[in-house]
Amino acid sequence: MKTLEARKLLGVGPDASPEAIKKAFRHLAMLWHPDRNPAPDAGEVFARLSTACDYLLERVPARGGAGKTASRGEDRHQDIEIEIERLCLGGQAEAVLESRRECAACGGAGHVESGHSQLCAICQGSGRVRHGRALFRCEACGGRGYTRRAPCPHCEGTGESVERRVLTVNVPPGVLPGDELRLEGEGYPAAGKGRPGDLRLRIRLRPHPLYTLDGGDLLLERPVSVFTLLGGGMVAVPSPAGPRYLEIQPGTGEAREQSIPGAGVPARGKRAAGRLRVRFVPVLPTAQTPALVKLYRALQAEIDRAGQDCLPELAAWEKHWLPKP
Ligand SMILES: [Zn+2]
Ligand SMILES: [Zn+2]
Repeated sequence: MKTLEARKLLGVGPDASPEAIKKAFRHLAMLWHPDRNPAPDAGEVFARLSTACDYLLERVPARGGAGKTASRGEDRHQDIEIEIERLCLGGQAEAVLESRRECAACGGAGHVESGHSQLCAICQGSGRVRHGRALFRCEACGGRGYTRRAPCPHCEGTGESVERRVLTVNVPPGVLPGDELRLEGEGYPAAGKGRPGDLRLRIRLRPHPLYTLDGGDLLLERPVSVFTLLGGGMVAVPSPAGPRYLEIQPGTGEAREQSIPGAGVPARGKRAAGRLRVRFVPVLPTAQTPALVKLYRALQAEIDRAGQDCLPELAAWEKHWLPKP
């Protein structure tokens, strides 16, 4: 629910005190309580009024903690997006904190006095606001439809300004998405003299064009020549800590996975280090040279000599569709 929507529902202006908000709510609640009002949407309207009232009361700045002895401010929860490289190697990340404060231009009222009358923004000049199917007097303009007040141009009538603060956060190696980084004292201030709460940053993974994560395992696809898959060989594989090398054993030309233990996200606490899991994907040559053509022919001749075990699928097909006369 937005502030303006809540004000419209209750028919109160931006500078309404908690008492005025409660009074407006009590008045409308009497009319719309489903026990009193037979209209089919009475229950729904009543619920929305109640939500609007709670919402606006929460927005009213606390005026001193009368009788309260809050020892510590609330913890603040927020997500932080981190690259895979930071999870593996550690490093720094930035968290942007947005704090809502009273707008300095209007003192939190949401409006400024203007020299001439203008349409009331709450009732659009009608002097009345609608709840369900009934109309009530607009409290913001006293039913006149016009007011000398204009919405504050700095906060667009919300009475709040948003302050952004950038915090540099140390990311230890080995943290995973869903883990929390805790920054002591960076949460909400305490109501009294107590210390502020903590800032708890929940880690989200920034998508990476090469790597994906599976627990602490790092996954990537690495194209290789089909001849390397068939004949074997050493291949370099990227990793956040720099290239690693894997030996491919001679095998089929189909895609296959190999892994390097411990080369994924490093161990942390009770969590073991992850693997770097590499899926080798075969790539076929796209250009020819006379020397290559010669070699391919020699290769095929050798495959034919070696017998049908080399290409069983092809042998089965030929046996089925080209029976010997
Ligand atoms: Zn303002
Ligand atoms: Zn009005």
